[in-house]
Amino acid sequence: MFPSDPDVLVIGAGCAGIAAARALAARGRSCIVLEGGSRVGGRAFTESASLGVPFDHGASWLHQADDNPLTPLARALGMTLIDHDAMRDRRLFAFGRLADATERHDFTAAEDAFWTTIDAAARDGTPDRPASIAAPQGGRWDSTVAHWEGAQICAAELSRMSLHDFAATALDGPNLITRDGIGGLVARLAHGLPIRLNARVDRIRWGTRDVTAEGTFGAVTAKAAIVTASTGVLAAGAIAFDPPLPAATQDAIHALPLGLLTKIAFRADHPDAPGMPPFASLRRAVSDDGDRPMSWISRLFGDPLMIAFCGGARAWDIAGNPARAEAEARAEATTVFGARAAAALGRPTVTRWAEDPLFRGAYSHAVPGAQGARAVLATPLADGRLSFAGEACHPRFAATVAGAWFSGTQAAGAVP
Ligand SMILES: Cc1cc2nc3c(=O)[nH]c(=O)nc-3n(C[C@H](O)[C@H](O)[C@H](O)COP(=O)(O)OP(=O)(O)OC[C@H]3O[C@@H](n4cnc5c(N)ncnc54)[C@H](O)[C@@H]3O)c2cc1C
Repeated sequence: MFPSDPDVLVIGAGCAGIAAARALAARGRSCIVLEGGSRVGGRAFTESASLGVPFDHGASWLHQADDNPLTPLARALGMTLIDHDAMRDRRLFAFGRLADATERHDFTAAEDAFWTTIDAAARDGTPDRPASIAAPQGGRWDSTVAHWEGAQICAAELSRMSLHDFAATALDGPNLITRDGIGGLVARLAHGLPIRLNARVDRIRWGTRDVTAEGTFGAVTAKAAIVTASTGVLAAGAIAFDPPLPAATQDAIHALPLGLLTKIAFRADHPDAPGMPPFASLRRAVSDDGDRPMSWISRLFGDPLMIAFCGGARAWDIAGNPARAEAEARAEATTVFGARAAAALGRPTVTRWAEDPLFRGAYSHAVPGAQGARAVLATPLADGRLSFAGEACHPRFAATVAGAWFSGTQAAGAVP
């Protein structure tokens, strides 16, 4: 199954690596995908073992689905995609109760004002700044909107993000979901590819005419390599490069850190469990300066799961401590659903993206001033002998499976 003398080494079998391998095969180039973990899909990972129904630990929506390369691929596989926005009952919890129609209207108006201000600031020609500088402030809903758009969606606070990159990578709907999960989709797209599992690459030698990847599996040499490990992995120095990477590439890696989004998924079969309908979502308004609410998604596809989402600094605070994550999510559930409903939730599965040395976080953002970093990281080195791909490399669909897929395809096309 593995070519003895491959043209290309692909490091990592997440979306970018799978897309690269497929594109290389389409070009008639042989490759080996070296994957450090025991499964394919990377940050697209669906499993049913822990909760008895499919649960996406990582990606769960195909954002901006009409432009998303995975949408036609899923359809070609016969998978049913559902427009979540079209059926989602969006609830807002504020002032100790569900918000009324006027409050929801005001919140939506604050969201619209946020995007108007961000877009205007991003276009005004001034140097890059933290995205938080451009966010409206002082209105009743502004801190809730900022928390939602920053920590809960982008996995990092607006103050940590480049305004220009934030604006350039903001995506729209439709947001599609599938019963098989996005991990299920990506795993199917990997079928038949030459992927070697449990082959963690520790060193890449790229100083000669070839590229050699080394690890406990031994050494494999090819004419070129595409590295798709996350910027969290690269910044930690988990792969040694010999010779060292150029300073500009290293700077780009460090300017694109991973934020963190943790999901705490509870079984919700008990009659006293929260009574939210399938596909509904609930956000809680920020109540004071230090408040960092979690949000909830209820019973996707009618499955008995209530999933709490915790993003940004609060997610880093609870990383590595699933018992604390559960306790904090139950406290959130008590606030928004009541003590009885919170107690009725089953034992949860808590995602572990921060602790896993093959990821070290959820997805990337550019730090203020680094709006050009994605393009730098995506620029092939040594006449195309070594290149980087992955969600962090895409200037528009960054932080998503779409960006990873586009980037992997592009890197494969640029191999000489
Ligand atoms: C909680 C969460 C929610 C998300 N929600 C969404 C969503 O709804 N929609 C969306 O589009 N995106 C979402 N994302 C982001 C999306 O999952 C990622 O952008 C995308 O999957 C990244 O793909 P990638 O190929 O760039 O990287 P990865 O998936 O990280 O793939 C890299 C691969 O490299 C492997 N690797 C690492 N180091 C080594 C090494 N030394 N040697 C060999 N292999 C190595 C890893 O094991 C991994 O398989 C979410 C992510 C998370 C964590």
